[in-house]
Amino acid sequence: MTTRPASLTPEFLDSLVKRVPGSTGNTWKLTEVYTGDLLVELPQSSEADIVKASADARAAQEIWGSWSVKKRLGVMKKFHRLVIDNQMLITDLIQAESGKNRRMAFEESCDIPMGTSHYIKRAPKLLKDSKHAGPVPFLSNSTEVRRPKGVVAIIAPWNFPFATGVSDTIPALIAGNAVLLKPDNKTALSPLFGIQLLEEAGIPPGLVQVICGEGPDVGGPMLANANYVMFTGSTATGRVIGELAGKNLIGACLELGGKNPMLVLEDANIDEAVHAALFGSFGNSGQICMHIERLYIHDSIYDEFRDKFVAETQKLNVSAAYDFLPDMGSLVSVDHKDRVVSHVEDAKAKGAKVLTGGNARPDLGPAFFEPTILEGVTKDMLAGATETFGPVVGLYRFKTEDEGIALANDTDYGLNASVWSKDLNHAGEVARRIDSGNVNINDILATAYASKGTPSGGLKQSGVGARHGDQGLLKYTDAQNIGVLKKQVMGPQGKQTYDAYAKQTQTSLKIMRKTRLR
Ligand code: NAD
Repeated sequence: MTTRPASLTPEFLDSLVKRVPGSTGNTWKLTEVYTGDLLVELPQSSEADIVKASADARAAQEIWGSWSVKKRLGVMKKFHRLVIDNQMLITDLIQAESGKNRRMAFEESCDIPMGTSHYIKRAPKLLKDSKHAGPVPFLSNSTEVRRPKGVVAIIAPWNFPFATGVSDTIPALIAGNAVLLKPDNKTALSPLFGIQLLEEAGIPPGLVQVICGEGPDVGGPMLANANYVMFTGSTATGRVIGELAGKNLIGACLELGGKNPMLVLEDANIDEAVHAALFGSFGNSGQICMHIERLYIHDSIYDEFRDKFVAETQKLNVSAAYDFLPDMGSLVSVDHKDRVVSHVEDAKAKGAKVLTGGNARPDLGPAFFEPTILEGVTKDMLAGATETFGPVVGLYRFKTEDEGIALANDTDYGLNASVWSKDLNHAGEVARRIDSGNVNINDILATAYASKGTPSGGLKQSGVGARHGDQGLLKYTDAQNIGVLKKQVMGPQGKQTYDAYAKQTQTSLKIMRKTRLR
């Protein structure tokens, strides 16, 4: 029997959901994944609630946006400390609402201090005015001013509710914006607590509004009342958000799904690759956008790798517990477990072989599914072409490197890939040939994802734009171009004919190129 953490009292949970605007009284039942027990009745926001929330956020943004970057960063420094001080409580919330194992919930909570710390360092440089040359040397100049967009809509999925919801909020705020944050109904508690901590740190009240509701109900009004949208979720919903953004003529960053390959080259360290593949395939119960669903192994080491991988998978501790012991927890919901079951059953019916796992585990909890390794998966199977988003991985052999790379690229997605070799230079060359926004050499995903200075986004159907890096902050700003001309010299001067002016201009263009003045 799983004992819920004592920190999650009804009073505390009620205080969190009181933050959600929900004037109609409609609610959604948010449950503890391990038991199915009701945790809270989550208010659902109507269109009128969203219009008001956006207006309130905009009013708070006028204050926040007028503060200096230094003053805003002072709040973020305090927030960074508060997150670490409250990290075990955050971990309790993430675990209860998502059903993931505690190690993963803890690691998820680390994403916020890391990203916040990066932008505390980097933002002063990025948000400072920058001077550029004007068209006329000495007599003109231009200044690039970074202005906040205004109200940013952030729509987050359930798989990393705290990381995707709160860490995308931080750069939007640092840039001077207000935020309308919409978590998934299933996992609204940890983002709500994150916003409470931001208010404790000193953001103006109302600057971040948490909107709750089913996506199709709230998406339209949110985007109609925002100046930019940051969306993380499935490729199918990403298309809908892209259309809404186009209709409202606002910018969008779309972080979408994947079908990520791991490529184990002939000279890889097999034991390390096997160990990493356990996390790659089964970390967060296979519900990480960057996790591995296709594992390509060189023919010469395939049998050894497969046998070790199956043996290690069978040793994993899969259970429902609020301590650090389990290697893997539950899937997020019974509906999602049914989707994973349908992928595995479809693969079996079409001829795939189950090497280990393959079954739901209702004895552990309503949404548990075993870590599962398949062989013989083909592209006509659901698990071969589309994202399963569960603890299910297919093993494949390749004979030549060109074949392995071609197989890795044989997908509509391009979010993440993992390449294993003892020769780092060679692995780097292979990485450049893979059509993927992120490639990790001798790691699965954390090295690329946690490198906060480098943009991280998807290619192909895996997304548009990126989070992290300079663009992860600058995308939340508009560039204003203020040009200054000290004297009216562009055009014929005095009685000069246009023919003479044109000749003079051509000479000037040549001189500016030669002298590298422009
Ligand atoms: P989803 O697309 O169903 O939902 C994501 C969010 O969008 C939820 O909050 C949902 O309520 C909302 N939503 C749904 N329809 C909407 C609409 N019409 N308007 C506005 N909002 C709407 O995705 P999911 O099942 O919650 O999450 C899993 C998916 O997210 C997987 O495909 C995974 O790969 C992807 N993901 C990607 C990244 C990344 O960084 N690339 C990170 C995490 C998850």
